[in-house]
Amino acid sequence: MSDLDQGVARTRQSFVGRLRGILGGPLDDAAWDEIEETLIAADMGAGLASRVVEGARARRDLEPELAVKNELIGLFAPRRTTGWPHVPGNGTPAVVLVIGVNGTGKTTTVAKLGHRFSKLGAKVLLAAADTFRAAAIEQLEAWAKRVDLPLVAHAAGADPSAVVYDALDAAAARDSDVVVIDTAGRLHTKSNLMDELAKIRRTIGKRLPDALPEVLFVLDATTGQNGLSQARAFHEAAGLTGIALTKLDTTSRGGIAFAIEDALDVPVLFVGVGEKVDDLLEFAPNDFVEALFA
Ligand code: GDP
Repeated sequence: MSDLDQGVARTRQSFVGRLRGILGGPLDDAAWDEIEETLIAADMGAGLASRVVEGARARRDLEPELAVKNELIGLFAPRRTTGWPHVPGNGTPAVVLVIGVNGTGKTTTVAKLGHRFSKLGAKVLLAAADTFRAAAIEQLEAWAKRVDLPLVAHAAGADPSAVVYDALDAAAARDSDVVVIDTAGRLHTKSNLMDELAKIRRTIGKRLPDALPEVLFVLDATTGQNGLSQARAFHEAAGLTGIALTKLDTTSRGGIAFAIEDALDVPVLFVGVGEKVDDLLEFAPNDFVEALFA
């Protein structure tokens, strides 16, 4: 069994276990209703589930199971063919800004990503720009030690943009290939948070005009449709270029992957399938659908 297979085991059991049972029998209206309910239970959202079922029912050229699979795959956002993160070249490091609400797995994902890029041969630098919580800095320090990566951090309460500026200087001095930045998930108000993210983006733009930073939104798969409205707000403020869907191992509601891509047209690029540093997988839409139906 592949890692992704294991990561989606819970979603598969509830989702496709049921779908298979229904798709195997005669497909009357009641059966299609049941398929729709199964999709809703996997957290696809009612509107989307109904669209998928309507689309699949209308297909005359495919068996029902293939028709459903096809509709699901059609929901995914387009992927960039030039790779992620964007590599600016000319000695400018790639920059990945990791954003999202507290508790979703942001800091863990920063460490996992850094470790992943480092294993692929990149020189990685981490930056602790969640200065709002002292614990967040300590947590990233502990991770950096564990995965043996350099970290730029300031004291709690420092200006996050100053941390980012220093990190970009350090990256230039060390000839780093990629800088992965942890950010706050909560400030005194939501508008503070969005303003701060905008300020960090401006700082990156000033220091590295060619960087075209990636903005990775961390979405906790267990938060369901709630996470979707969070994602929308962050997308408006910061312009997401990718999504990391965390805690997929703990939930049967992996249908959120379809819902978020369909809603934002931003690709899920990584999935978190555990608490260990290697528990971050690249997300490939076709493999995901195949793993669900495996
Ligand atoms: P942050 O507040 O967003 O920075 O979240 P943390 O990185 O501190 O993670 C919150 C909790 O979620 C921690 O206990 C992590 O170990 C856990 N966590 C993060 N990602 C995953 C995942 O993919 N699977 C599981 N099972 N737990 C995760």
